[in-house]
Amino acid sequence: MGRVGVDIYPLQHRVPLEEVRTFEKFLGGSATNVAVAAARHGRRTAVITRTGDDAFGRYVHSELRRLGVDDEFVGAVNGPPTPVTFCEVFPPDDFPLYFYRYPTAPDLLIEPNTLPDNEIRDAMVFWCTVTGLSQEPSRAAHFAAWETRERHTHTVLDLDYRPMFWADPAEARNQVDAALEHVTIAVGNREECEVATGETDPDRAADALLARGLALAVVKRGPDGVLAATADERVSLPAFPVEVLNGLGAGDAFGGALCHGLLSQWPLQRMMTFANVAGAIVASRLECSTAMPTTAEVDVALEQGRVV
Ligand code: ADP
Repeated sequence: MGRVGVDIYPLQHRVPLEEVRTFEKFLGGSATNVAVAAARHGRRTAVITRTGDDAFGRYVHSELRRLGVDDEFVGAVNGPPTPVTFCEVFPPDDFPLYFYRYPTAPDLLIEPNTLPDNEIRDAMVFWCTVTGLSQEPSRAAHFAAWETRERHTHTVLDLDYRPMFWADPAEARNQVDAALEHVTIAVGNREECEVATGETDPDRAADALLARGLALAVVKRGPDGVLAATADERVSLPAFPVEVLNGLGAGDAFGGALCHGLLSQWPLQRMMTFANVAGAIVASRLECSTAMPTTAEVDVALEQGRVV
């Protein structure tokens, strides 16, 4: 449940946006990308979100279906258009994002009384992102969904923090704080874990998250790999070697792969190894949703020790 939009990504790299001549459009939005990533591993997925009543909204539906994600819970709102997102590509580590979500984003207009309660209750993984807490009525919808869910396994909070969606970081921290009461797993990159816990050190951030009663805390460390912790186990992995083209979407690939690992009931080490490679593969590609690797692609990379 969460963000959806259209990514308009430049086909020329290492140049600023004002000099880019051509772009390609892709399905985008963090929660949506995670659903696509899990579908690539053969999982049945659906997204709960809202688009504008427009051409890009229709594109979202057709891309979701083409990529194997159920679009039954994607409604259209009157008013704000389906958001678009531009980026700049300066490998290996600079990928500025430009969100056009004005005057607001349809995915933040999701109403609590329009949620598919049965599906939320029964989903084997229910994945939400912190951006969904940045505004009403989406915020109330998330807390309503978690009430339905009753903190059962696996209820995941992606700590996904985008400063531009918040008045100030303290407000985001307060919302995350309240949300952690309702979830069983938290996943975030270093900056997001710091906003959530106040801790800059990944181990301490993981400890702080576990102290909230979570079963699993995952700190994604970009080019430094990943740290994952449960009450009795800790796995730290360096990044899988890869030539980075665009780091955007790596975290979503990681998330979809994590869903697959959870549903496969893999041990922590195997789950993290798999998700770490999935993230690296997407970092080596321009786009996000259509770049999500299949299980076979991850397995081949693991076997060969490199991304093919
Ligand atoms: P997010 O995309 O959510 O900000 P990260 O940038 O930490 O999260 O990336 C998520 C995961 O993708 C990392 O934990 C790692 O497994 C993989 N990854 C990201 N960047 C790289 C990279 N430069 N090289 C190899 N793997 C990467």
